[in-house]
Amino acid sequence: METKILKTDDESIAEAGRIAAQGGLVAFPTETVYGLGASAYDETSVARIYAAKGRPSDNPLIVHIADISDIDRLAESVSAEARRLTEAFMPGPFTIILKKSPLVPDAVTAGMDTVGIRFPENDTAQRFIRAAGVPIAAPSANLSGKPSPTEAKHVIDDMTGRIDAVIDGGSCSVGVESTIVDASGAVPVVLRPGGVTYEELTAVVPETVIDPHILESIGEGERPKCPGMKYKHYAPDAEVTVIEGAMDAVKKKIDELLLKNSGKVCGVLTMSDNAYDSAVILCAGKTNREYAKNLFSCLREFDKLGAEIVFAEFEERDGYGLAVRNRLYKSAAQRVIRV
Ligand code: AMP
Ligand code: MG
Repeated sequence: METKILKTDDESIAEAGRIAAQGGLVAFPTETVYGLGASAYDETSVARIYAAKGRPSDNPLIVHIADISDIDRLAESVSAEARRLTEAFMPGPFTIILKKSPLVPDAVTAGMDTVGIRFPENDTAQRFIRAAGVPIAAPSANLSGKPSPTEAKHVIDDMTGRIDAVIDGGSCSVGVESTIVDASGAVPVVLRPGGVTYEELTAVVPETVIDPHILESIGEGERPKCPGMKYKHYAPDAEVTVIEGAMDAVKKKIDELLLKNSGKVCGVLTMSDNAYDSAVILCAGKTNREYAKNLFSCLREFDKLGAEIVFAEFEERDGYGLAVRNRLYKSAAQRVIRV
């Protein structure tokens, strides 16, 4: 299959919308990461998303809308708390889980009775969804298990020949996926930290809690609330280890580890001015917000540079810390050293 690379002019967006409306797969930019979209009402196209990514069939997709009133079509019921959250954070890097209406096919929700709904803020994403004329079901546009794509070239690297088109809308401003809040029960629960911080959520609905599993891996046989929690995630080819703590102690530890691994091509992902000998160094930025924006592209860059081992500096510094830490721990398969 030829994968078309489309720009963001009106004609290209109209073409992308036509492709999706006719059952095709289109990767599109959002403020979080690139999504791999298909008509949410078309089960056959939705099945093609799973095949193209190699995604396990029990990991549901998020339904993307460009009109807030679509929530009432896709969801069976919306509580007062859920309504306050959608009013505050949509459009934006935010996904709400609600009881699904019969309109949403089981293929989208992996058989669950709830649906994840997101209204992206990115203008290109909104224009594409409107052009398609249907809600767009989409996970991130990477091969399953790989870091999420934050630029069109990442999508092209993973998906060429597997999808119909990619809209090149430049780099994503947030860089990590949306915050997922399950508002289908009595108390809203954060299932995945992301572009909307916990502080922002509790300012609107103070009762909101964080799922305790957010920073853990899920054991064999356990059924997580957010099915995505249990799979290998965001993993580059290199083996990643997170070194967490104050930056001078982090530096000391990484120097020690570099010495131990001197026979290998090592990389260090930094959030400080620390310099390291005999390692490829990429700086993710000094704030957690910058770290979020650059994390996935840095992980992909380390692979291109041939790194076999990556040590990632980390310290929680702002509201984005939880989202970065969640992605880092997963890309490191929970190899975390606290100093
Ligand atoms: P991705 O955008 O690639 O991270 O994939 C969408 C994420 O949303 C997955 O991790 C899913 O587990 C999560 N998700 C989608 N729908 C639901 C739902 N109904 N309940 C819980 N999590 C969901
Ligand atoms: Mg994903």
